[in-house]
Amino acid sequence: MMPSKLVLIGCGHSHSVALLSWLHQSAPLRHCPIADITLITPNAQTIYSGSVPGHLAGWWNREACAVNVADLAESLGIKVVFDEAIGLDLAQQCVMCRNHDPIAFDTLSLDIGSTPQIPTMASQRIIPMKPMGLLLNSLDPYLILGPSKTSPETLPRTTLSMAIVGGGLGGVEVALSLKERLGNQLDLSLICRSPTIAPAQFKTIQTLLTQELKSRSIQVYLNTVVNSVQENTNGVNLILNSGESSSNLSSNLSCDVSLWATQATSPQWIRDSGLMTDDRGFVLVDRTLRSVSHSNIFASGDIATIQNSPQPKAGVLAVREGKILGHNLRRSLASQSLKSFNPQSRYLNLVSLGDRRAVASYGEFSMTATLIQPWLWHWKKTIDDSFVLGLNLR
Ligand SMILES: Cc1cc2nc3c(=O)[nH]c(=O)nc-3n(C[C@H](O)[C@H](O)[C@H](O)COP(=O)(O)OP(=O)(O)OC[C@H]3O[C@@H](n4cnc5c(N)ncnc54)[C@H](O)[C@@H]3O)c2cc1C
Repeated sequence: MMPSKLVLIGCGHSHSVALLSWLHQSAPLRHCPIADITLITPNAQTIYSGSVPGHLAGWWNREACAVNVADLAESLGIKVVFDEAIGLDLAQQCVMCRNHDPIAFDTLSLDIGSTPQIPTMASQRIIPMKPMGLLLNSLDPYLILGPSKTSPETLPRTTLSMAIVGGGLGGVEVALSLKERLGNQLDLSLICRSPTIAPAQFKTIQTLLTQELKSRSIQVYLNTVVNSVQENTNGVNLILNSGESSSNLSSNLSCDVSLWATQATSPQWIRDSGLMTDDRGFVLVDRTLRSVSHSNIFASGDIATIQNSPQPKAGVLAVREGKILGHNLRRSLASQSLKSFNPQSRYLNLVSLGDRRAVASYGEFSMTATLIQPWLWHWKKTIDDSFVLGLNLR
């Protein structure tokens, strides 16, 4: 009998954890004849988001955020195809790739993350916050303007103006980190659609983050949307619309580069695939992380929405789902019953303030006291480092 073909698309937080769980199983997959497994990933490395703010602030280098998923997969005997999926043919059960022939599957698992909504025009001055690898590549030329704490060589002083569009936690963390790295060399604005920054957080965290942004001279625009973007010879011009609908005010904000941390979206090829999705295009799964429309397809992390229990798009949840996913993919290949993921309404969020301090929230509880902020930062670093180290085999 031919072994069943399992194809994994993307290797973010969820698939990495699933692969690690297989590595730790007493009967590793390389001794398991039931599946012929292929991983489709654009890069050998994936970036762990929790470690990104500290890298941007200059506290550690990029390697400290990177997980070599190709190593992890190959150590399990999984074939790695370096490519990007661009479509699914569910009738023929195959994945279309940008540079390879279609790859057939019996069982498919998706962990491709999400990307922010960005203007349709292509410009190197419009940088999406995700995928993280692209974010770091795009920011590299700007980061060298400011000395890193790991190699503090003096570089020519130049100023850079930047606008971050999106005032959620990701946008705020990156703003504080870049300001830590570039200091007065960076003229930074943060544009937030809602009346407060970090709208999903409780008031204490919002107030503290607002104070932090203010103390670093980061200009915050609240109740403001970017209506359109124009590129000019020196940078980009953002046309802003501020205020309540009855009293909208338009203004221009010119900057060298804009970073987009807006609402997460899914790629068009997922929306076009025929998989059942939620209204934002994310794959609808049940609590076993199996597609509600196609029982041989699994999805986890940002790209999945658990039907009737939607979760925030967060790395910490992608990691938790990864453990269940690893278990369920194996069980599904062996036609065994699946485990359910138990979505939790609260989870720990450690938010970096850029300068070796952090704040914590857990549901409506928060730890923001000045005295414990350095301790929280070390705690966050310990958690993030051990996660990255645990996934890197060399
Ligand atoms: C700056 C920043 C900081 C953050 N910090 C935190 C934090 O501290 N805590 C937290 O809980 N969350 C955090 N988040 C959110 C977190 O990054 C995401 O929720 C998390 O990355 C989702 O993981 P995932 O497994 O869904 O996929 P990801 O980790 O996003 O990885 C997806 C992978 O799929 C690959 N891929 C994409 N498309 C394709 C394709 N077509 N074919 C093949 N491969 C593909 C990508 O290259 C990538 O390697 C942060 C986000 C940002 C922007």
